[in-house]
Amino acid sequence: MARSIKVSLIGNPNTGKTSLFNRLTGLNQKVGNYPGITVEKKEGICKLDRGIKAHILDLPGTYSLNTTSLDESVVIETLLDRTSKDFPDVAVVVSDVENLKRNLLLFTQIKDLEIPTILVINMADRMKRKAISLDIKQLEEDLKTKVVLVSSRKNIGVEELKKAITDFKSLDIEPCVNASVIDPVYFERLRKAYPNQLLYKLWLVITQDVNFGKIDRNRDLTDLKTTSFEIKSEADLKRLQHKETVVRYQFINGLLKKALSIDTATAKDLRSRLDRILLHKIWGYLIFFTVLLVIFQAIYDWSGYPMDFIDESFASLSSWLSNKLPAGPIADLLSEGIIPGLGGIVIFIPQIAFLFLFISILEESGYMSRVVFLMDHLMKKFGLSGKSVVPLVSGTACAIPAVMATRNIEDWKERLITILVVPFTTCSARLPVYLIIVGLVIPEGSILGGLLSYQALTLMLLYLLGFATAILGAWVLNKILPINRKSFFVMEMPAYKLPILKNVLYTVLEKTKSFVFGAGKIIMAISVILWVLASYGLGEQYTNAEQIVTEKYESENLSEKDLNQKIASHKLEYSFIGYIGKGIEPVVAPLGYDWKIGIAIVSSFAAREVFVGTLATIYSVESDGEDELTIKNRMKEEVNPILGGPLFNFASGISLLLFYAFAMQCMSTLAIVKRETNSWKWPAIQFLAMTVIAYASALAAFQILK
Ligand code: GDP
Repeated sequence: MARSIKVSLIGNPNTGKTSLFNRLTGLNQKVGNYPGITVEKKEGICKLDRGIKAHILDLPGTYSLNTTSLDESVVIETLLDRTSKDFPDVAVVVSDVENLKRNLLLFTQIKDLEIPTILVINMADRMKRKAISLDIKQLEEDLKTKVVLVSSRKNIGVEELKKAITDFKSLDIEPCVNASVIDPVYFERLRKAYPNQLLYKLWLVITQDVNFGKIDRNRDLTDLKTTSFEIKSEADLKRLQHKETVVRYQFINGLLKKALSIDTATAKDLRSRLDRILLHKIWGYLIFFTVLLVIFQAIYDWSGYPMDFIDESFASLSSWLSNKLPAGPIADLLSEGIIPGLGGIVIFIPQIAFLFLFISILEESGYMSRVVFLMDHLMKKFGLSGKSVVPLVSGTACAIPAVMATRNIEDWKERLITILVVPFTTCSARLPVYLIIVGLVIPEGSILGGLLSYQALTLMLLYLLGFATAILGAWVLNKILPINRKSFFVMEMPAYKLPILKNVLYTVLEKTKSFVFGAGKIIMAISVILWVLASYGLGEQYTNAEQIVTEKYESENLSEKDLNQKIASHKLEYSFIGYIGKGIEPVVAPLGYDWKIGIAIVSSFAAREVFVGTLATIYSVESDGEDELTIKNRMKEEVNPILGGPLFNFASGISLLLFYAFAMQCMSTLAIVKRETNSWKWPAIQFLAMTVIAYASALAAFQILK
């Protein structure tokens, strides 16, 4: 008979929990979020003997059940709430054979909750090199449960673990440490007051900041911290918690003395030699910046090839469809709305895949922890983490993968700040806008004896401005965001390891999937809306556009191509987006823009680079290839409708540059921020704040310079 078992995977960070999860579930996994919070929820299915299915929940890595962060409270809430659908039949605690002492602390706490618990000692393949030997029998005896020696790298012991999970009913649930010795009188009174409750669970509820309304729906524990029962001061509780840790370590030390032996002479090896170089005051930074350079090159340059391919494929698919399908709104929707919308999602995949390929290799190899060690000190001053450097640098290619890359920043506040400031860095989509405006309004000529042209200098300043704003923004956010930081943070230096290929590939696959299905929906929806707004309009001017334009230019004998461009331009002017552009003219006029720029700004919300293409349509000229001169020349001729004189002059040009430097002109970034923060609140705040900054600085620039 088919049956299913619920299994929770629990363990300290870096014990190989994820690798084991991958081993057990293969590709049968899905990643979501815990309801209402940003913590990632990973689940998967593992087939066991006798047709039994194990539902495996990979809980966030945690050092103990004394919670200090959102991730950790997920663990404790899952383990305390017996009515929750995630409550495990059996807990599998994963430990690392090289860090058993620290890892066992968490194990003993979970065992005390009287949940059937299996101890996995992972990385068994390293025992020989490290000259570690273990007495498993002894461990099983003292820990009062099944202990399985595993190497998820070499796929050793995984079958034995599966068997142990299948037989979970035979596990002893007796605690291995009696925590009540830390204050016998207090615990005795606690037991009398709540005779039906598990003592250690009561203790956790009292000392943790968990939501205990959720923990036990049947029995009312809500008065536990507040009334009837003797209340201990916070300092007393902290002292007792500390005592508990000491008691547990005494037990663990005693046990390991009997069961573990390490020949320390062989332990000094590669690691210390590598650390000496990679953490070196000069070489360390040099190597890190080289690594960053390679990552940057990959997402900025190498991903260009697959991206071009995707771009062209979707373009030809569109034109193929519009030729094949009978003309009409459905064909238009497909070939101009939906297919380009899909293309706009798929186009990000190469960058995301490349970035996560590198990030997971850095994480897997143990190098990322060294990066944190190198950069944390500096970045913390701005409220960022050492791990923010990779997202900030990747942001210069594109904010989408960069925002996703914040996922491995442990502290929520540091992660949020990084997400909020990343879009300030100059992404590659800003470049076409910058290039054309700089070419138009920044005079030729150079400084440093011809070494640096004014135009190149301006471009460089714009990149610097992006970085500076991101850093400054982080500093301000760090001061004003009312979020607590993790109260303590264990800086861990895991051993160097060759990355496990399977883990790397799963990470790349999972991130890509989560982008396509998480943010993709929103991008799709907005691009279809933008398409409708740009392709439909009301009134005679729109519906009779062809006739009106043909009549108007009848005498001029235009070529068919020129005429079609004029028609497209006329249609855009009288489309919904055209009306919006005209509608916002009074708002953007003080920045030095007219309604045509207004239209281009609204449509470039799809992606910044659309700005140039839209202007080309409005001016009815080609925007690409050799004809780029045409669009530039055409822009030069434009006259400011209010002030007279050229529309694109130094003042309005700088104003536009600043606007694009600061404004959140990118629906895909908003979509990914929504996905990553699991709420609309942060993208909304980000959008508003960035737009206000953009508007204010563009306004100031134009008014001062005009
Ligand atoms: P998590 O943080 O607990 O999810 O751990 P990961 O699964 O990400 O693994 C942390 C590191 O340990 C990675 O570098 C893995 O390649 C490595 N690792 C995982 N399992 C094993 C193993 O059985 N043997 C060895 N030698 N390394 C492993």
